[in-house]
Amino acid sequence: MNQISSYAETFRFYKGISEQYNDQVVLDSVKQLVPDEVLKLTADEQSLEPLLHWFKNNFMKWMPKELQCARCNRPMRVQLGDGNSAAFRKTEIHMCDVCSSTQIFPRYDKILRIAETRIGRCSEWSILFGAIVNSLLIQTRIVHDYLDHCWNESLINKKWVHIDSTLDYPISFDHPYYYEQNWGKKYEYVLAFSANSIEDVTTHYTQQWLMVQKRRGKKDKVEEFKEIYYRA
Ligand SMILES: [Zn+2]
Repeated sequence: MNQISSYAETFRFYKGISEQYNDQVVLDSVKQLVPDEVLKLTADEQSLEPLLHWFKNNFMKWMPKELQCARCNRPMRVQLGDGNSAAFRKTEIHMCDVCSSTQIFPRYDKILRIAETRIGRCSEWSILFGAIVNSLLIQTRIVHDYLDHCWNESLINKKWVHIDSTLDYPISFDHPYYYEQNWGKKYEYVLAFSANSIEDVTTHYTQQWLMVQKRRGKKDKVEEFKEIYYRA
């Protein structure tokens, strides 16, 4: 698979998620997940701190990349299966080589399925958290760095603000350089998705723009991405 077509596949996925962010049935259902006291606190809270705290500590579970077999206490092997319906992206099958016990982790692209299972990694977390914040009438989109992480941006005081529900507050709110400074991220493209548009937001997240441009090489792909996204 060439590089552009692997981007295109994720574009279809993020476009589908962004369209669900405009679906009032989805927004009404996810809003009902939030306890009243959290909603009340969040209403006049510019940092979304109560909501971030509740989501990370009381609502969602993290799915590790590698599971331990509960019986044998040994790491399990992971196999990837293709999604077999519109509701699935792909399925992870975790298997113990000793006792053959298996655990299946289906990765959904329907927000309401993620809301039922309440488990995942950064993609499930940011897909669902973005829907919840949109349901509170704060415009929110999903951002992917194409280096194995994704998060959200919310429009607060007319500015797109970095929000990462997988991290602890205050790092989870408006700490855009955190990944580059602490995880050594070497970005090429960080992209933000809405139902009708894709935006190159890499400059929000880097203090090493010259290095990013070097990595991109002579031909910047952003215009090409936009065309692919419209067609996706
Ligand atoms: Zn086992």
